[in-house]
Amino acid sequence: MLEYTLQGNSFERRFQENLMAKYIEESELLRIGEYTKLLKKQNEIFESEYSRLPRAYLETHGCQQNENDTERIRGMLFEAGYDFTDDPAKSDLVVFNTCAVRENAEDKVFGRIGILKHIKERRPHMMIALCGCMVQQKHIAERIQKVHEHIDLIFGPQALYRMPELLYNAYKSRKAVVDIEDSVGAIAEDIPVLRDAAHKAWVSVMYGCNNFCTYCIVPYVRGRERSRRPEKIIEEIKELAKDGVSEITLLGQNVNSYGLDLDEEKDFADLIRRVNEVDGIKRIRFMTSHPKDFGDRLIDAMAESEKVCPQLHLPLQSGSDRVLADMNRKYTSAEYLKKLEKAKKRIPNLALSTDIIVGFPTERQEDFEDTLEMLKKAEYDSIFSFIYSRREGTPAAKLESVLSEEKIHENFNRMLEVQNEISLRKNKAYVGKVVTVLIDGISKTDDKMLTGRTDTAKIVNFPGSAELAGSYRKVRITDARTWSLYGELV
Ligand code: SF4
Repeated sequence: MLEYTLQGNSFERRFQENLMAKYIEESELLRIGEYTKLLKKQNEIFESEYSRLPRAYLETHGCQQNENDTERIRGMLFEAGYDFTDDPAKSDLVVFNTCAVRENAEDKVFGRIGILKHIKERRPHMMIALCGCMVQQKHIAERIQKVHEHIDLIFGPQALYRMPELLYNAYKSRKAVVDIEDSVGAIAEDIPVLRDAAHKAWVSVMYGCNNFCTYCIVPYVRGRERSRRPEKIIEEIKELAKDGVSEITLLGQNVNSYGLDLDEEKDFADLIRRVNEVDGIKRIRFMTSHPKDFGDRLIDAMAESEKVCPQLHLPLQSGSDRVLADMNRKYTSAEYLKKLEKAKKRIPNLALSTDIIVGFPTERQEDFEDTLEMLKKAEYDSIFSFIYSRREGTPAAKLESVLSEEKIHENFNRMLEVQNEISLRKNKAYVGKVVTVLIDGISKTDDKMLTGRTDTAKIVNFPGSAELAGSYRKVRITDARTWSLYGELV
């Protein structure tokens, strides 16, 4: 039997400082603004020489937080006078916003970096920037500098607001510029944002994580938890509503910790009640909740705020208490289920989703069977499941796997089979019902179909015309598949 108990290790304690949120001074933001002006001037010269603006190509890997960061990068570049392109081969600046959560995401970025080398041979003036969690890891940044000399700029998530300065310095020096300094991080408000969708928006409410789950790299690359001030968040959401946005997703690695570092006693439940009051906002979603902190106050706020969607993403990770302890998750499967049942009782028609890791190093076959049992008990609408990925620098990376790779893959496939059956059964319950769908636009797989989501986050496809994008329409569900519903406008 394995003896590992990773909970409460000294590594975690070292980082559990009670830090009050810090904010980037206005004078610092004004200083960065000067670099935006310098870039703009440079881009105007480019335009007069080439009769076009320089084009930037942006690529995002990873989670919604990264998507949100990319929208900020796009905003900063737009202010600096860049145009945008979908084709890296036609771009003058490439920005890859990278992810460190799993090894295959990193492998993908390395593959893409290789392709850029060939493009840069034909377009030597092209500037290439890598940012995000992957490059915040020192060993990765060093490897890139050593092996990929065609990369001009590397910066981590905490240096994001300084991008105009770093980019300008990279142009001027024509040497690689790197900023992956480890810091507790600070919040930079009022960075320009250029968003993807006109009717939906992500709004970060906090950054970083203090939880130190033993498999996870996030606390090391995104720093400690820092909450934005509620008035800044509400101000941003009001602006979005004025611009026609009606659905908001509040983002944070662990939204339940929101406010703990603020000097006023406000938590996430208070925040969503305030967002619920904003005129023009019709739907509120949030992610991610940590089960150890998810409790009655938030369940009540969800139930009592009519705009909060009946949808909950509550990452379980494992159904085995022993593995949960090794993961440093700080809850048991029974505690988790109790909270889930409470939420289901209080919020009618609640749709549930979760994250599961298969093959955590200390997971034995009976632990995996416990996870399968939990899936059956919880009856999730959908799951995001991953095979454990070893992340250098995390405590779990030092452990040998108990199960063979073959067995882990077999378990993974078994789990998908179990979940697919549950998902299909839950989707079939929608057939014949009329649901309200926020229409995203034309489906990517069938240009005669529109696609959108219910308040329970179910994807619904149905025939209709593109001008309905952004509107709420009633749709009768006529067919259900594992991942989506089909229907017709009522
Ligand atoms: S709570 Fe989430 S982000 Fe934080 S350490 Fe755990 S898995 Fe990583």
